Amino acid sequence: MKVTENKIYNPAAECMDRESIKKRQDALLKQTVEHVYNNVPLYRKRMDEAGVKPEDIRGTEDLHRLPFTNKTDLRDEFPYGLLAVPQEEIVRIQGSSGTTGKPIVSGYTQNDVDVWTEMVARSLVAAGAGKEDKIQVTYGYGLFTGGLGAHQGASAVGSMVIPMSSGNTQRQLMMMHDLGATMLCCTPSYAIFLGESLQEMGYNTKDFKLKSGCFGAEPWTEEMRDKLESLFDINAYNIYGLTEICGPGVAFECCAKDGMHINEDHVIAEIVDPKTGEPLPYGESGELVFTTITKTGMPMIRYRTHDICTLDATPCSCGRTLARMSRITGRTDDMLIIRGVNMFPSQIEEVLLKIPGVAPHYMLIVDRVNSTDRLEVQVELTEDMFSDTVSEIEKIQNAIREQIKSVVGVSANVKLVPPKSIPRSEGKAKRIIDNRGLTK
Ligand code: ADP
Ligand code: ZN
Repeated sequence: MKVTENKIYNPAAECMDRESIKKRQDALLKQTVEHVYNNVPLYRKRMDEAGVKPEDIRGTEDLHRLPFTNKTDLRDEFPYGLLAVPQEEIVRIQGSSGTTGKPIVSGYTQNDVDVWTEMVARSLVAAGAGKEDKIQVTYGYGLFTGGLGAHQGASAVGSMVIPMSSGNTQRQLMMMHDLGATMLCCTPSYAIFLGESLQEMGYNTKDFKLKSGCFGAEPWTEEMRDKLESLFDINAYNIYGLTEICGPGVAFECCAKDGMHINEDHVIAEIVDPKTGEPLPYGESGELVFTTITKTGMPMIRYRTHDICTLDATPCSCGRTLARMSRITGRTDDMLIIRGVNMFPSQIEEVLLKIPGVAPHYMLIVDRVNSTDRLEVQVELTEDMFSDTVSEIEKIQNAIREQIKSVVGVSANVKLVPPKSIPRSEGKAKRIIDNRGLTK
């Protein structure tokens, strides 16, 4: 595999000592709280109800006194209710892909677009980007933040952007090949699909110039990283973000591939207990909560992401001091409770991809039969395996069932399906069909 050089886009910001980060966060938090209290009726109302005034917030230690915000607030205040500046200051609207219901939108001032661009530029450079690179952006362009976000970041770095947007797999591969793209930005599930199609189209990995990829917008596992790195012979890096905060680039992996650095000079991250909302110490797993401290258009105070992970502020071998978040292990709203056992799709993915002969395409189907939950795991076999003998296939089926039982703790029906039978997504993959009709 190609080696990624350890490059840092903005060393002054990314390697600031922890004390200076805290000082900056304290000062900017105070400003932001005052700004939203004075300009956004919802924040003023919530703070008044909680008995907190802007002057009570002296720094990050007082963060927990501020009320949370939620996706429902963005829906209720749709489209402009949460803007903290006059509409003429807004230069961009982006929206969530709506994977979890009705779309929401966020308004950006020029400052906000610039802050976001800086975050993505840092992410791409951490994945090895430079002026010499040709970056193929295969995230969708439009309201979804992936396409434009990656595009702006790549332009700031001075790389050559290939703005493909999502879809049209054959053309993606043809352009990647003919233009000699060196980096790829898309969802990990679509990247897998591209990698598989590459072989089917008769290309050889060696004919491509790709050296790395920034993959995000959906959860993925280390096992998926291994697949991607071997499919394309690249380094695969994780990039995280959400529309409410700005888009991709809120956090990104460096060459150490050991957690994603959070752009803490622009956002404050907390982990809270998803049930009680109580802040949890670094290292404990819980729900990630963000407060923006440099956004002016639509600042977010203690926004609950529903994403589950851990935080780590120990030094990283790359030299950055920015704290790191682990991979997202699930979303509080993606958690399945099967016969009382809590589980996330990522746990199943981890099990599946460790078993030879299994392709990284799966679907979890949950039903309730006679008041009992039933989990069916549909998973594709690789081409070679599919043509194998029945007894070989049964062996795999049993191995998957046993591994799920022992690692995840639930019994599942395992259905092995032919290659390419699970629907592919050009953006975020859909992994769960829950037929129980339970309200979350
Ligand atoms: P939505 O998917 O809710 O419509 P967005 O398009 O803004 O909204 O996506 C943000 C969400 O995508 C995050 O809250 C997180 O759940 C998921 N996500 C983004 N990047 C990653 C990543 N690298 N790993 C895991 N999940 C991610
Ligand atoms: Zn690092």
